[in-house]
Amino acid sequence: MNRVRAAAPQLAGLVPYDPKYLPAEAYLSANENPRDVDAEVRAVIAKRIAEVPLNRYPDPLANRLRDMIAEANGLDRACVLVGNGGDELLFDLALAWGGPGRSFLNLPPTFSVYEANARLTNTRCVNVPRREDFSIDEEAVLARVAAGDIDFVIVTSPNNPTGLRAPVAFIEQLLAATDALVLVDEAYFEFSRETVRPLLEANENLVILRTFSKAFSLAGVRLGYILANPAVIEEFLKVRQPYSVDALSQVVGEVVFEMRARFEPGIREIIEERARVAEALRTLPGVTVYPSDSNWVLLSLEGADEAWQYLYDRGILVRDFSRAPMLEGCLRATVGTPEQNDAFVGTLRAFIIERNGMRAQAARLEEGR
Ligand SMILES: *Cc1c(COP(=O)(O)O)cnc(C)c1O
Repeated sequence: MNRVRAAAPQLAGLVPYDPKYLPAEAYLSANENPRDVDAEVRAVIAKRIAEVPLNRYPDPLANRLRDMIAEANGLDRACVLVGNGGDELLFDLALAWGGPGRSFLNLPPTFSVYEANARLTNTRCVNVPRREDFSIDEEAVLARVAAGDIDFVIVTSPNNPTGLRAPVAFIEQLLAATDALVLVDEAYFEFSRETVRPLLEANENLVILRTFSKAFSLAGVRLGYILANPAVIEEFLKVRQPYSVDALSQVVGEVVFEMRARFEPGIREIIEERARVAEALRTLPGVTVYPSDSNWVLLSLEGADEAWQYLYDRGILVRDFSRAPMLEGCLRATVGTPEQNDAFVGTLRAFIIERNGMRAQAARLEEGR
């Protein structure tokens, strides 16, 4: 036998996740922190890593880091679970609350990983699309959960890639309206300065997802966590890979979490730069800028795919959503360092001037014929 039978049917037509991470000078495509951890944090990490026994399995639950996160959030250890990036925990969610005959409520356009996880686990994905301005259609969501067949919902706040927070009052209403598990994805809450953490005690059906990948410069390390009620954490424990968080990542996470105050000036700068970039982009003719509570700016313009190529040819990598459903003509630019942001805005301006110049020239030629 030299042939292989087909893979599981739910994989048919599924495309592997592609971050479209190409070599560039300015990486403004993946919402990473433009600054790496500083030299002092790195030195402490190096020292601590040198002491890690590599021949032993790691603590399956990363309990030291877990306790630090619990304490910082005023919670018990039993309310925290650390994962191999937020992505692992999102998959665990689909394993634990999804499956054949189960339903997931999605609010597109949003993070594409949610829907992919639903497909992989044979979970039905029910979409309640956002409005034209990307705000949540709150009445439609509340009406849909009232049908009683939804098993879990993901509300991203701020929403990737559109940028704005979900209103806390709405999340509160949603939690009260359903017994479905509601995961609030707070991957970017450090940039919005808003969390639904205060709703945890009163709502057994709330899970909050956070990550070290964005504000804390650790996208390369793979650490995320959830905050939830112990009964919910128990279900996640049943489906998770026991050793998903390796010993080195645990130590890196402990050091960075301990020293997290040092990241605060960088976060503040990103928030300030976000306003500066948005304002500069708004002066460009034909560019629509969507308001953002996060570390990127979503914009739309005619010829977005050409603009993406023009930027990329000049060393600036942004995320092209121009052909994504509901995001036609959109680009997402992560807020980088002030220099990177200037280069991005300046290059986009040059693209628009060149293109408009060529159009004017073409029109003149047309007239003169
Ligand atoms: C980045 C991101 C995550 C988590 O990313 P990890 O690197 O896997 O921790 C989760 N949700 C959204 C919306 C994100 O953008």
